[in-house]
Amino acid sequence: MHKDDITPILDTHEDTDHVFLNEKNEATFLCKNCGNGVTRDLSRLLHTQAAIRVKCKCKCGNVFRVLVERRRNCRKIVNLLGMCHYLSDSGQPQKRLIKVLDISPTGLQFSINDMPRFNVGDKVFADFRLDDRNYTEIKVKGAIKRMRSKKVGLEFISIERPKVLTLYLSN
Ligand SMILES: [Zn+2]
Repeated sequence: MHKDDITPILDTHEDTDHVFLNEKNEATFLCKNCGNGVTRDLSRLLHTQAAIRVKCKCKCGNVFRVLVERRRNCRKIVNLLGMCHYLSDSGQPQKRLIKVLDISPTGLQFSINDMPRFNVGDKVFADFRLDDRNYTEIKVKGAIKRMRSKKVGLEFISIERPKVLTLYLSN
């Protein structure tokens, strides 16, 4: 694939596809003709627009148009107590008190008092109560994305009450 397989277009004909940018300003384009997907960093195309239209040229020859949207920035700063569950190196279940610092539709960040015994890439469970009217308990499974001092970034794999969480994040 070449750098020019994704080119911006200016007209506003009906778009066939929507994709969202991730946190790194990357988007994944999937060719419906051959099923080939490519992920491209679109930083160079980003200015101030909320969305950009691009033309994708797949290696199979198919050319298709995509509307790329920024995910609404709904990372919500919170202060919620919870628990993180994981397995020790020897496979024993462990749990640690955590403080959830922020939540987005795709993940959360928490702080932990003592240095956790898990590593980037590990899968852990976390549960915490929202400060909504019902103090709804949310349980998530996630993968550790980053660890900086005692702050841990978790990317969701599954969420037990996704609708409640979506509503909470939109308020
Ligand atoms: Zn293709």
